Amino acid sequence: MAKTDITEKVVSLAKRRGFVFQSSEIYGGLNGCWDYGPLGVEMLNNIKQAWWKEMTYRENVEGIDAAILMHPRVWEASGHVENFTDPMVDCRECKARFRYDILLEGMSEKAAKKMKEDLKKELNFDDDKIKSFIDDPDNSEKVLSTVNCPNCGRNGTFTKARSFNLMFKTYIGPVEDSSNIVFLRPETAQGIYVNFLNVKEAGRQKLPFGIAQIGKAFRNEINTKNFLFRTREFEQMEMQFFINPKDDGEWFEYWKEQRINWFVKHGIKKEKLNIHVHDKLAHYAKAAVDIEYEFPFGWGEIEGIHNRTDFDLKRHTEYSGKKLEYFDDQTKERFIPYVIETSAGASRSFMAFLINAYDEEQVAKENSDGSKSTEVRTVLHIHPSLAPVKAAVFPLVNRDGMQDIAHNITEDLRKNFRVFYDDSGAVGRRYRRQDECGTPYCITVDSETLTNDSVTVRERDSMEQVRVHKDKLTSYITEKLTV
Ligand code: ATP
Repeated sequence: MAKTDITEKVVSLAKRRGFVFQSSEIYGGLNGCWDYGPLGVEMLNNIKQAWWKEMTYRENVEGIDAAILMHPRVWEASGHVENFTDPMVDCRECKARFRYDILLEGMSEKAAKKMKEDLKKELNFDDDKIKSFIDDPDNSEKVLSTVNCPNCGRNGTFTKARSFNLMFKTYIGPVEDSSNIVFLRPETAQGIYVNFLNVKEAGRQKLPFGIAQIGKAFRNEINTKNFLFRTREFEQMEMQFFINPKDDGEWFEYWKEQRINWFVKHGIKKEKLNIHVHDKLAHYAKAAVDIEYEFPFGWGEIEGIHNRTDFDLKRHTEYSGKKLEYFDDQTKERFIPYVIETSAGASRSFMAFLINAYDEEQVAKENSDGSKSTEVRTVLHIHPSLAPVKAAVFPLVNRDGMQDIAHNITEDLRKNFRVFYDDSGAVGRRYRRQDECGTPYCITVDSETLTNDSVTVRERDSMEQVRVHKDKLTSYITEKLTV
């Protein structure tokens, strides 16, 4: 299967089976925004729940849920008003707008090489010098002077790069003037920093401890693309771990390992994960790595682990006048803690989990005349803990009271899980429908059930069937869901 096909197939399955729809589709959609359908919302909730349990069901991490709108000074202190910008260039002819670095990345290898060689010759620069010259958005007009616009194809039409702030602005209260501007948060982390003292006191926490939060974030991305990968509204799962600065190396390694393990534990194939170490660091960071997943379009960050030093607490101390520091009773030291941040996208992880799970397999098929052949089954190998529907219950045939038994089993399982009941069509087709939406267990009531209360449980990945007593189904499934 070609790599590009996979994204298309997943996007189409996601729509067909109710995982993800385009936002406001009947109006032609809204760029960079997506809606989660009945199966999608279940799976997204499962991802968030799995993360929440992993991160907060421990002694030293507390959860919060801060407001999306925050005091505008927060974003001055954090550096977002000044620095949260992308360099953007416009085509003077067709008015299309591009992010400078992404435009360069999108050039064919041949065109990029030619551009570089021509510039090197003209400016008499060596390889290193030309690289930093090209990377600097201030030189964009010169760099792009021979490049074609990907939209209209014209040559040398690009403007100089301008900084474009990615925060969405709105007004609080009825008066739309500059003193009432607020921003939709571009990350959840700041809601954690400003609550550092509150949580420390209320939770009676001592260092090291962390604060975790899941919530929406908004970025007015210039180019949204690749389905859920880069959207304008998305959800983050962030944890800020406050430590004594002398322990930063140790905790950075600890959280890096914890977070990789979390993805693997929930089914992401190890060979599809990569750790990218940043050599260019953000203004606040001392060390940074990305956990990357190999998407069909290439490697992409799904989570960042950052040593943010004391940057944020120091800045909020400066801007708010409140001392965000820590007093160690034992050593009598007073200091501003360092922060190790784990910052994952819930929606971007959702896309990674979905793509990671997608498969088309050749399986044996028995035809109605008894002959054998093969057919393709589309299956989502989603880890049972994240699967939107945990089990489907079928009566083999709609007689002899099998439907009643199947309904009773469904009701019983629904006390704990999301379960689907289906009595239409051949059992083989019912299996296929469930495979396609990742249901890990299909339970069939058959004639043997009538004699000994056992049912068949068919496992999605191996397609093997075992007999289980109907009263043991809840514990059978519970055990399989535990990671
Ligand atoms: P990128 O370089 O891809 O824009 P970033 O380095 O700006 O990402 P962070 O600010 O570190 O990302 O955000 C942490 C996480 O939030 C990312 O790993 C990603 O999973 C998620 N995320 C960030 N921006 C978006 C977006 N526009 N759409 C979906 N998820 C996003």
